Amino acid sequence: MAKVYIIGAGPGDPELITVKGQRLLKEADVIIYAGSLVNPAILECAKEGAEIYNSASMTLDEVLEKMTEAASKDFMTVRLHTGDPSVYGAIQEQMDALKKRDIDFEVIPGVSSCFATAAALKQEYTLPGISQTVIITRNAGRTPVPERESLKSLAAHGATMCIFLSITMLDDVVKELISGGYKQDAPIAIVQRASWPDQKIIRATLETICDEIKGKGIDRQAMIVVSPCLSADYDLSRLYAPEFSHMFRKSSK
Ligand code: SAH
Repeated sequence: MAKVYIIGAGPGDPELITVKGQRLLKEADVIIYAGSLVNPAILECAKEGAEIYNSASMTLDEVLEKMTEAASKDFMTVRLHTGDPSVYGAIQEQMDALKKRDIDFEVIPGVSSCFATAAALKQEYTLPGISQTVIITRNAGRTPVPERESLKSLAAHGATMCIFLSITMLDDVVKELISGGYKQDAPIAIVQRASWPDQKIIRATLETICDEIKGKGIDRQAMIVVSPCLSADYDLSRLYAPEFSHMFRKSSK
Protein backbone atom coordinates (compact mmCIF):
# COMPACT_ATOMS: atom_id res chain seq x y z
CA MET A 1 0.00 0.00 0.00
CA ALA A 2 1.24 3.50 -0.83
CA LYS A 3 2.59 5.47 2.10
CA VAL A 4 1.96 8.88 3.58
CA TYR A 5 5.15 10.94 3.83
CA ILE A 6 5.14 13.71 6.41
CA ILE A 7 7.81 16.07 5.12
CA GLY A 8 9.50 19.16 6.52
CA ALA A 9 9.33 21.79 3.78
CA GLY A 10 11.96 24.01 5.40
CA PRO A 11 11.61 27.64 6.43
CA GLY A 12 10.57 29.20 3.11
CA ASP A 13 13.33 29.13 0.51
CA PRO A 14 12.19 26.30 -1.80
CA GLU A 15 15.79 25.08 -2.02
CA LEU A 16 15.85 24.38 1.71
CA ILE A 17 13.77 21.21 1.51
CA THR A 18 15.91 18.04 1.72
CA VAL A 19 16.84 16.14 -1.44
CA LYS A 20 14.76 13.22 -0.19
CA GLY A 21 11.77 15.45 0.58
CA GLN A 22 11.86 16.97 -2.88
CA ARG A 23 12.18 13.59 -4.57
CA LEU A 24 9.08 12.33 -2.76
CA LEU A 25 7.22 15.57 -3.51
CA LYS A 26 7.92 15.03 -7.22
CA GLU A 27 6.51 11.50 -6.99
CA ALA A 28 3.41 12.31 -4.91
CA ASP A 29 -0.11 11.64 -6.21
CA VAL A 30 -1.69 13.73 -3.44
CA ILE A 31 -0.09 16.72 -1.71
CA ILE A 32 -1.54 18.36 1.37
CA TYR A 33 0.45 21.43 2.40
CA ALA A 34 0.19 23.81 5.34
CA GLY A 35 -0.60 26.86 3.23
CA SER A 36 -0.31 29.41 6.01
CA LEU A 37 3.49 29.01 6.15
CA VAL A 38 4.76 26.69 3.40
CA ASN A 39 6.04 28.58 0.35
CA PRO A 40 3.79 27.51 -2.55
CA ALA A 41 6.80 27.84 -4.89
CA ILE A 42 7.95 24.51 -3.45
CA LEU A 43 4.98 22.84 -5.17
CA GLU A 44 6.20 23.74 -8.65
CA CYS A 45 8.01 20.40 -8.85
CA ALA A 46 4.78 18.41 -8.33
CA LYS A 47 4.00 15.98 -11.15
CA GLU A 48 1.26 16.76 -13.62
CA GLY A 49 -2.11 15.64 -12.36
CA ALA A 50 -1.10 15.56 -8.68
CA GLU A 51 -4.01 16.54 -6.43
CA ILE A 52 -2.96 19.51 -4.27
CA TYR A 53 -4.81 20.64 -1.14
CA ASN A 54 -4.12 23.54 1.20
CA SER A 55 -4.70 22.36 4.76
CA ALA A 56 -5.11 25.94 6.04
CA SER A 57 -8.83 25.69 5.35
CA MET A 58 -9.23 22.02 6.40
CA THR A 59 -9.96 20.31 9.73
CA LEU A 60 -7.88 17.39 11.02
CA ASP A 61 -10.69 15.02 10.00
CA GLU A 62 -10.75 16.41 6.47
CA VAL A 63 -6.97 15.98 6.17
CA LEU A 64 -7.24 12.38 7.43
CA GLU A 65 -10.11 11.70 5.04
CA LYS A 66 -7.97 12.79 2.07
CA MET A 67 -5.09 10.59 3.25
CA THR A 68 -7.36 7.59 3.78
CA GLU A 69 -8.99 8.02 0.39
CA ALA A 70 -5.56 8.27 -1.26
CA ALA A 71 -4.28 5.17 0.55
CA SER A 72 -7.35 3.18 -0.50
CA LYS A 73 -6.50 3.96 -4.15
CA ASP A 74 -2.82 3.14 -3.53
CA PHE A 75 -1.93 6.81 -4.13
CA MET A 76 1.15 8.17 -2.44
CA THR A 77 0.47 11.22 -0.22
CA VAL A 78 2.89 13.93 0.83
CA ARG A 79 1.89 15.99 3.85
CA LEU A 80 4.04 19.11 3.81
CA HIS A 81 4.70 20.99 7.03
CA THR A 82 6.74 24.13 7.50
CA GLY A 83 10.28 23.93 8.90
CA ASP A 84 10.79 20.63 10.69
CA PRO A 85 7.52 18.83 11.38
CA SER A 86 8.48 17.84 14.94
CA VAL A 87 8.42 21.43 16.18
CA TYR A 88 4.90 22.88 16.65
CA GLY A 89 3.79 20.81 13.66
CA ALA A 90 0.66 19.24 15.19
CA ILE A 91 1.75 15.97 13.57
CA GLN A 92 1.38 13.62 16.53
CA GLU A 93 -2.40 13.53 16.19
CA GLN A 94 -2.06 12.81 12.46
CA MET A 95 0.47 10.03 13.03
CA ASP A 96 -1.63 8.45 15.78
CA ALA A 97 -4.73 8.55 13.57
CA LEU A 98 -2.79 7.02 10.64
CA LYS A 99 -1.58 4.23 12.95
CA LYS A 100 -5.16 3.54 14.01
CA ARG A 101 -6.22 3.35 10.38
CA ASP A 102 -3.31 1.05 9.55
CA ILE A 103 -1.92 3.51 7.04
CA ASP A 104 1.85 3.30 6.73
CA PHE A 105 3.72 6.59 7.08
CA GLU A 106 7.24 7.97 7.32
CA VAL A 107 8.58 11.32 8.53
CA ILE A 108 11.24 13.22 6.57
CA PRO A 109 12.88 15.96 8.65
CA GLY A 110 13.29 19.55 7.49
CA VAL A 111 15.27 22.70 8.26
CA SER A 112 13.52 24.40 11.16
CA SER A 113 13.02 28.16 11.02
CA CYS A 114 15.14 28.48 14.18
CA PHE A 115 18.14 27.30 12.14
CA ALA A 116 17.28 29.46 9.14
CA THR A 117 17.17 32.32 11.65
CA ALA A 118 20.70 31.50 12.89
CA ALA A 119 21.84 31.46 9.26
CA ALA A 120 20.21 34.84 8.59
CA LEU A 121 21.90 36.27 11.69
CA LYS A 122 25.21 34.60 10.76
CA GLN A 123 25.23 33.43 14.36
CA GLU A 124 26.28 30.24 16.14
CA TYR A 125 23.90 29.44 19.01
CA THR A 126 26.44 27.43 21.03
CA LEU A 127 29.61 29.35 21.82
CA PRO A 128 32.17 27.78 24.19
CA GLY A 129 32.08 29.37 27.62
CA ILE A 130 28.95 31.39 26.74
CA SER A 131 26.08 29.01 26.06
CA GLN A 132 26.03 25.34 25.15
CA THR A 133 22.27 24.92 25.24
CA VAL A 134 19.48 25.92 22.86
CA ILE A 135 15.97 26.15 24.25
CA ILE A 136 13.15 25.85 21.72
CA THR A 137 10.04 27.33 23.27
CA ARG A 138 7.08 29.67 22.93
CA ASN A 139 4.99 31.98 25.05
CA ALA A 140 1.63 30.64 26.16
CA GLY A 141 -1.09 31.66 23.74
CA ARG A 142 -4.23 29.80 22.79
CA THR A 143 -2.09 26.70 23.32
CA PRO A 144 -1.12 26.60 26.98
CA VAL A 145 2.48 26.03 28.13
CA PRO A 146 3.13 24.05 31.34
CA GLU A 147 3.96 26.41 34.24
CA ARG A 148 7.36 24.75 34.81
CA GLU A 149 8.29 25.81 31.26
CA SER A 150 7.28 29.47 31.59
CA LEU A 151 9.58 31.87 29.75
CA LYS A 152 10.49 33.32 33.13
CA SER A 153 11.76 30.00 34.47
CA LEU A 154 13.55 29.06 31.24
CA ALA A 155 15.19 32.50 31.11
CA ALA A 156 16.88 31.72 34.44
CA HIS A 157 19.29 29.40 32.55
CA GLY A 158 20.72 32.31 30.56
CA ALA A 159 20.98 29.94 27.57
CA THR A 160 20.18 30.61 23.92
CA MET A 161 16.41 30.74 23.49
CA CYS A 162 14.54 30.46 20.19
CA ILE A 163 11.04 31.68 20.89
CA PHE A 164 8.45 30.59 18.32
CA LEU A 165 4.84 31.72 17.84
CA SER A 166 5.15 34.69 20.18
CA ILE A 167 5.83 37.82 18.13
CA THR A 168 2.37 39.31 18.80
CA MET A 169 3.10 39.03 22.54
CA LEU A 170 6.56 40.62 22.40
CA ASP A 171 5.85 43.00 25.34
CA ASP A 172 4.96 40.05 27.50
CA VAL A 173 7.94 37.99 26.28
CA VAL A 174 10.35 40.80 27.18
CA LYS A 175 8.82 41.20 30.67
CA GLU A 176 9.07 37.47 31.33
CA LEU A 177 12.69 37.29 30.15
CA ILE A 178 13.67 40.20 32.38
CA SER A 179 11.84 38.83 35.40
CA GLY A 180 13.63 35.51 34.77
CA GLY A 181 17.05 37.12 35.00
CA TYR A 182 18.02 38.61 31.63
CA LYS A 183 19.36 42.16 31.94
CA GLN A 184 17.60 45.07 30.24
CA ASP A 185 20.60 45.56 27.96
CA ALA A 186 20.76 41.87 26.94
CA PRO A 187 20.87 41.47 23.15
CA ILE A 188 17.85 40.16 21.28
CA ALA A 189 17.26 39.55 17.58
CA ILE A 190 14.08 39.07 15.61
CA VAL A 191 14.04 37.54 12.16
CA GLN A 192 10.86 37.65 10.12
CA ARG A 193 10.47 35.24 7.21
CA ALA A 194 13.99 33.86 7.49
CA SER A 195 15.20 32.63 4.06
CA TRP A 196 12.33 34.30 2.14
CA PRO A 197 13.23 37.10 -0.31
CA ASP A 198 11.62 39.70 2.03
CA GLN A 199 13.41 38.47 5.17
CA LYS A 200 13.79 41.17 7.85
CA ILE A 201 16.31 41.26 10.69
CA ILE A 202 15.98 43.49 13.74
CA ARG A 203 18.63 43.59 16.45
CA ALA A 204 18.18 45.48 19.71
CA THR A 205 18.27 45.02 23.47
CA LEU A 206 15.44 43.79 25.65
CA GLU A 207 14.84 47.38 26.66
CA THR A 208 14.62 48.78 23.12
CA ILE A 209 13.18 45.95 21.02
CA CYS A 210 9.48 46.82 21.41
CA ASP A 211 10.10 50.38 20.15
CA GLU A 212 12.49 49.11 17.52
CA ILE A 213 9.93 46.91 15.75
CA LYS A 214 7.08 49.46 15.84
CA GLY A 215 5.73 50.30 12.39
CA LYS A 216 7.84 47.61 10.67
CA GLY A 217 4.94 45.21 10.10
CA ILE A 218 6.56 42.44 12.09
CA ASP A 219 3.49 40.68 13.41
CA ARG A 220 3.79 37.10 12.13
CA GLN A 221 6.22 34.44 10.90
CA ALA A 222 8.97 35.77 13.12
CA MET A 223 11.53 34.13 15.40
CA ILE A 224 12.67 35.79 18.60
CA VAL A 225 16.21 34.90 19.67
CA VAL A 226 17.62 35.93 23.00
CA SER A 227 21.09 34.69 23.70
CA PRO A 228 24.30 35.77 25.36
CA CYS A 229 25.96 34.53 22.13
CA LEU A 230 24.59 37.53 20.25
CA SER A 231 27.21 39.83 21.80
CA ALA A 232 29.85 37.56 23.20
CA ASP A 233 33.60 37.37 23.45
CA TYR A 234 33.82 33.63 23.42
CA ASP A 235 36.51 30.97 23.85
CA LEU A 236 37.72 29.37 20.63
CA SER A 237 36.21 25.96 19.89
CA ARG A 238 38.27 23.03 21.20
CA LEU A 239 37.45 21.06 18.07
CA TYR A 240 39.93 22.95 15.88
CA ALA A 241 42.51 23.77 18.55
CA PRO A 242 46.03 22.52 17.59
CA GLU A 243 46.62 20.81 20.96
CA PHE A 244 43.31 18.97 20.91
CA SER A 245 43.20 15.39 19.58
CA HIS A 246 40.06 13.64 18.53
CA MET A 247 38.97 10.64 16.54
CA PHE A 248 39.83 12.22 13.18
CA ARG A 249 42.90 14.33 14.01
CA LYS A 250 46.01 13.90 16.19
CA SER A 251 47.09 16.95 18.17
CA SER A 252 50.10 18.81 16.74
CA LYS A 253 51.39 19.71 20.24
N1 SAH B 1 7.75 23.57 12.34
C1 SAH B 1 8.10 24.95 12.15
C2 SAH B 1 7.45 25.86 13.17
C3 SAH B 1 5.95 26.00 13.01
S1 SAH B 1 5.25 27.07 14.18
C4 SAH B 1 9.63 25.08 12.16
O1 SAH B 1 10.34 24.10 12.43
O2 SAH B 1 10.12 26.15 11.84
C5 SAH B 1 5.23 28.60 13.32
C6 SAH B 1 6.25 29.58 13.92
O3 SAH B 1 7.52 29.27 13.38
C7 SAH B 1 6.01 31.03 13.55
O4 SAH B 1 5.13 31.64 14.46
C8 SAH B 1 7.41 31.60 13.70
O5 SAH B 1 7.73 31.82 15.06
C9 SAH B 1 8.25 30.46 13.21
N2 SAH B 1 8.58 30.58 11.77
C10 SAH B 1 8.13 29.82 10.75
N3 SAH B 1 8.73 30.16 9.58
C11 SAH B 1 9.59 31.17 9.89
C12 SAH B 1 10.54 31.90 9.13
N4 SAH B 1 10.73 31.68 7.82
N5 SAH B 1 11.28 32.85 9.78
C13 SAH B 1 11.13 33.07 11.11
N6 SAH B 1 10.27 32.38 11.87
C14 SAH B 1 9.50 31.44 11.28
